[in-house]
Amino acid sequence: MNIKQIEDEYFMHTYKRGDLVVKETKNQFIWDENGRKYLDFFAGISVCNVGHCNEAVIKAAKKQLDSFSHVSNLYYAPPQIKLGEELVKRTFPGARVFLSNSGAEANECAIKIARKWGFLNPSKEGNRYEIICFFNSFHGRTLTTLSATGQDKFHKFFKPLQEKFVFAEINNMDSVKKLANNRTVAIMIEPVQGEGGIIPSDETFLKELRAFCDDNNFLLIFDEIQCGMGRTGKLYAFENYGIKPDIVTLAKSLANGLPLGASIAGEKCAGTFLCGDHGSTFGGNPVSCAAALAVLNIINSEFLNNSLKIAEYLRIKLENLKDKYSVIKCVRGLGLMIGMDLKINGKDIVNYCMDKGLIINCTNDTVLRLLPPLIITKKDVDFAVKILEGALKWQLTK
Ligand SMILES: *Cc1c(COP(=O)(O)O)cnc(C)c1O
Repeated sequence: MNIKQIEDEYFMHTYKRGDLVVKETKNQFIWDENGRKYLDFFAGISVCNVGHCNEAVIKAAKKQLDSFSHVSNLYYAPPQIKLGEELVKRTFPGARVFLSNSGAEANECAIKIARKWGFLNPSKEGNRYEIICFFNSFHGRTLTTLSATGQDKFHKFFKPLQEKFVFAEINNMDSVKKLANNRTVAIMIEPVQGEGGIIPSDETFLKELRAFCDDNNFLLIFDEIQCGMGRTGKLYAFENYGIKPDIVTLAKSLANGLPLGASIAGEKCAGTFLCGDHGSTFGGNPVSCAAALAVLNIINSEFLNNSLKIAEYLRIKLENLKDKYSVIKCVRGLGLMIGMDLKINGKDIVNYCMDKGLIINCTNDTVLRLLPPLIITKKDVDFAVKILEGALKWQLTK
């Protein structure tokens, strides 16, 4: 049996995999089992932001693997402690961090902090525990993060869900205000929705959310698992908006492909968790943390500015495509987090691009999602746009 047949026979069919058996990767490229080269404009769902097999990251991880890969969180692992310091310093003063293994865990931790904080800071009616989330959001696949996810298609078979998550519309402050009550403890949002179709928040909306949280003593939680780590041209997407959350979560590209999640709580709730409130056996794995330190070392202002320049170059070319092909409804996003909303399902276009050597993704049926490694060049953009245009032309002739 070949690899695809083995997968088909032995795995639960939870993924619709693209027709690509990976042999190796480097920077912005992937090679398949037949040695064919692909330009990667997806980066493993915004995971390999500093490029596949980044040399500095690999070197740091290998060095750590040679000295120790696990001691348990009952002792001190220096790479983990140093990463925590670096993350807090680059996030906000007075913050504290909890390290886990994945995005869902990072959000789960943020939700638990909010629940305990609501217990410690009750309203006249008692405990506060309700969290306002948003339609179209995605916060993970554990039952609690699924319950915070505002998309029915993920809920269907898994009810009853966790209680006390309610949903407002992004960029609609009235819809948020209507849901707030004496039990509300927090508002949780992706500053740029990812799985939901690359939908950025408006600046006025996020600023109003911040003010609303301050006025009512709610925590503001930003899920930056997809839009953080330089994806939007800043380390955090929220830096584009001139406001800060009370808790921010990271995962995906934090360790550039090794599993790692982080929940960073600002001054207001940094001291909420005490001994025994939370924990994880693997959380903050030393090898992942050594890799993450190397990643943060790469993501400096020069690196980010270069990614913004290339994002601008790509954006102009995509807007040109939109002017030429009426099947494109709109191009939106921030930095190198870009969505092209189509009037048709994008599946065939993704397959066409793969066939021509370009890896992109489609989310929410109609949105072509581009999340290239932040190191792509103009040459890569030219190559990608040429293939995309080919796909659009081909679509017209179908
Ligand atoms: C991917 C993602 C998650 C879940 O992360 P996992 O590591 O798959 O658990 C949560 N929130 C957002 C915004 C994501 O993009």
